[in-house]
Amino acid sequence: MICVTIACGSHKRMISEMAGLAEAGIRLVELRLDFLRKMPDLGRLLPNRPLPVIVAVRRKQDGGLWSYDEEKRLLLLRTAIISGADYIDIEADIAAKVPRYGKTKRLISYHNFERVPEDLDALYEKILQQTDPDVIKIAVTPRSIGDLFRLFTFMKKVNVPGRGKPTVVIGMGEVGFPTRVLGRKFGVPMTYATFSPQRLVTPGIPFYKDLRDEYRYESINAETEVYGVIADPIAHSLSPLIHNAAFAKANLNKVYLPFRVPAGEAGELIEKASSLDLRGLSVTIPHKSDVIPKLTRMDPAVEEIGACNTIVFRDSATFGYNTDYMASALCIETAMGGGREGENCPLAGKQVLLLGAGGAGKAVAYGLLKKGARVTITDRKPEKAELAARQLGCSFCDWEARKSYVAALIANCTSVGMFPEVDQTPIGPESIRNGMFVFDAVYNPEQTYLLRLARQKGATPISGLDMFIGQALLQFRLFTGQKTSASMIRDLLKEALALSRS
Ligand code: NAP
Repeated sequence: MICVTIACGSHKRMISEMAGLAEAGIRLVELRLDFLRKMPDLGRLLPNRPLPVIVAVRRKQDGGLWSYDEEKRLLLLRTAIISGADYIDIEADIAAKVPRYGKTKRLISYHNFERVPEDLDALYEKILQQTDPDVIKIAVTPRSIGDLFRLFTFMKKVNVPGRGKPTVVIGMGEVGFPTRVLGRKFGVPMTYATFSPQRLVTPGIPFYKDLRDEYRYESINAETEVYGVIADPIAHSLSPLIHNAAFAKANLNKVYLPFRVPAGEAGELIEKASSLDLRGLSVTIPHKSDVIPKLTRMDPAVEEIGACNTIVFRDSATFGYNTDYMASALCIETAMGGGREGENCPLAGKQVLLLGAGGAGKAVAYGLLKKGARVTITDRKPEKAELAARQLGCSFCDWEARKSYVAALIANCTSVGMFPEVDQTPIGPESIRNGMFVFDAVYNPEQTYLLRLARQKGATPISGLDMFIGQALLQFRLFTGQKTSASMIRDLLKEALALSRS
């Protein structure tokens, strides 16, 4: 079940939000009374409530806003019980001071905004044995992949049917986000969400609409197969949006999650993949090279490029692929008028100036070389360009030399021009000639400054969005063996990118 947290400053607003949420089909809300600007008046909030409520009055030490003294808080909690609240959230350390009465259920909570305590099992046993709970809630803060998997193990252990009490386990913050969705797969009875993007009441709490529509929370069950993207930072990844939509369209019992994996920890996640029923991963910065030693089988391109952006777990093996190189070569070839079977590739023999020797640069260069192009790579760090050129078997030039380089195609694979630095370009208008092609791997914004310059100078612009869509289509194929709709992905991405800039 999804419990929506209502955290607003006025009683009137709280009452109207309860009504609105009941009408929207929500079945449980948490009233965060500590957010009210005036002393909470339960006589206004509880009678005639349109749906069941959990009453919570959070102290500052538990991430709340309660500004009155503790005696007033205890009195408020006891009054909520006498007034017949459906559930009352009582922090474990004060449970003895708020006795059971009537039909009100006791949700005994523990919060830790710093870490996942070492003695999680002992802490749980103490709550179970000493606080008279109906439901237990453990909300802690994982900082590493090790912490995250400890929480998954813990939530499975404490939610075995017929034993203990229903236990909500939440990993707060970005690293913990997958617990908020996947808890349902492992028997966790509910998760929390907010209804409005403006209400970030606890770190990492998802929006109700995203949980319901994007992650299809209510249809997650023990058989749901897990996919995800590993990155750091992760917040702006659009991969969950598109892969979840594609899973939903194909009616597949699969869910795709953002895993914030700190540098150096991707290997640990891969080793533990089977405990989570992980079937596939998109891999991005900073993990594309680090994951290679963990692969048991790989497309030769992964080794040659030195980067893996897709992992599939199948038949006890870990397969690595690079869909970036295929997608970029295909979208550039198509824009140049080729791509049809039996035709000569328009890239064959063409001179390409490729800017940026990072992960994307090497993948794009590899794809273009495969198509027969002559690639010269450059990077503001000359040693990086030289190394990439040696690895890939192409030439390189000085960063300064890019300005006068004569090429049929310029491919920007640096991050210059990416939102929010949208008025920057890695190469000036004087280097762009009429009739040439200009590809920009940057896809946010879709129309980069470089692509606008290209159009002005009579060159043909090729958007990185086409590459992004192409690599996602290929990944979906590797994940599921099925095709999905490119136009659906394009529409979703355009909408999300426009929103991200508004
Ligand atoms: P990366 O491995 O971190 O490489 C970043 C590249 O950008 C490096 O070559 C870096 O140069 C260069 N760079 C950064 N700031 C620069 C500046 N001010 N001047 C000159 N060069 C600069 O990242 P990546 O994975 O290759 O991604 C690069 C871009 O491609 C990003 O914008 C990313 O969003 C995009 N991308 C798009 C797709 C797609 O599907 N369209 C896929 C992957 C990546 P140094 O080596 O000198 O630091």
